[in-house]
Amino acid sequence: MSTGTRFTYDALPGRILFGEGLAGTVLADELDRLGCRRVLAFAGEGERDIADRLLPPLGERVVGVFDGVRMHVPAEVAEAATARARELEVDGLLCIGGGSTTGTAKIVARETGLPILAVPTTYAGSEVTPVWGLTTAARKETGRDLRVLPRTVVYDPQLTWSLPSALAVASGLNAMAHSVEALWTEAANPVTTSLAIESVRALATGLRAIAADEGDRDARTALTYGAYLAGSCFAVAGSGLHHKICHALGGAFDLPHAETHATVLPHVLAFNAPTLGPVAQRLAEALGCDDAAVGLSHLAREVGAPQRLADVGMRPDDLDEAVDVIAAKLPIHNPRPVDRGDIASILAAALHGTETC
Ligand code: NAD
Repeated sequence: MSTGTRFTYDALPGRILFGEGLAGTVLADELDRLGCRRVLAFAGEGERDIADRLLPPLGERVVGVFDGVRMHVPAEVAEAATARARELEVDGLLCIGGGSTTGTAKIVARETGLPILAVPTTYAGSEVTPVWGLTTAARKETGRDLRVLPRTVVYDPQLTWSLPSALAVASGLNAMAHSVEALWTEAANPVTTSLAIESVRALATGLRAIAADEGDRDARTALTYGAYLAGSCFAVAGSGLHHKICHALGGAFDLPHAETHATVLPHVLAFNAPTLGPVAQRLAEALGCDDAAVGLSHLAREVGAPQRLADVGMRPDDLDEAVDVIAAKLPIHNPRPVDRGDIASILAAALHGTETC
């Protein structure tokens, strides 16, 4: 830190409770704090068992359960959920699940202004961001609105024990992408950087431990904590070059989301690392290595994530089109100016994997 240090930090409100087994004991009190007497709960199919354990003790306060959750919040799902909330005249929303379930409740909150109590069951981090997403006619739109930010979040790592290890790894690596990108976005600041570094430390520890032993409960706690911090820094710092590349690739070539993040991130980091100064060293240390980009790539290999875009469905022949799609988004804010040639180099390195990563 130097005498010239200046920054703006738009802190977000929100009450966070963290602890194993907490969801089974605090939900009624937390709904009371929010003044919620008639609640619509949200839980997708894969989260139904968890909801079946958590909802009965809340009794008649839960007047309905919306279980029509689908990935990327299709408009018809959002409309059905909003209609249900209005019809039941609820005064609060309780979402129990991953990013898709939270995302559905968020759209209802955007339309109605109702408060959300979120109980996450994956490492997506959406529960601490004011970002909503909605898919209409196969096009996903996103935006920021403080009304969608959950008022209270109950993090209970126990709820992630049932997440299969492949999903846990994918979800944890997504969280990692939020944290690493938060180091260089336009709104990044020393506070979000500290959150991001601590998040990377917790996520790397958790990811390595579940790769070694799927049943490691401390690992699930570390991942839950890391995911909370990752969501928090992403919520303030926003996204940048890495997310723009991954979204463009996902949209143009229908590549799998988490695997695309895992293969591209080390190469965007290698490109940006020279501009990060001492933060690059802090990141490397959090990853337990000497060079952050190499360390990130090795971590992905250790946890069984793919190493190359070529392994997740991108063909060498697609490279030129991919460069065109991303170059169409230039200029992209980045600490190191980025042009079409840089995008081509990053993609070529990610396509085949390189010795440097
Ligand atoms: P998800 O919510 O789609 O869940 C993946 C699958 O896991 C689902 O089938 C779900 O039912 C199941 N599942 C969830 N918890 C489980 C558990 N504990 N045990 C067993 N199965 C479980 O996936 P996700 O990765 O949590 O979220 C991804 C979505 O969230 C994407 O649409 C992404 O765009 C969005 N997202 C939004 C933000 C934001 O700030 N708005 C941030 C991160 C992610």
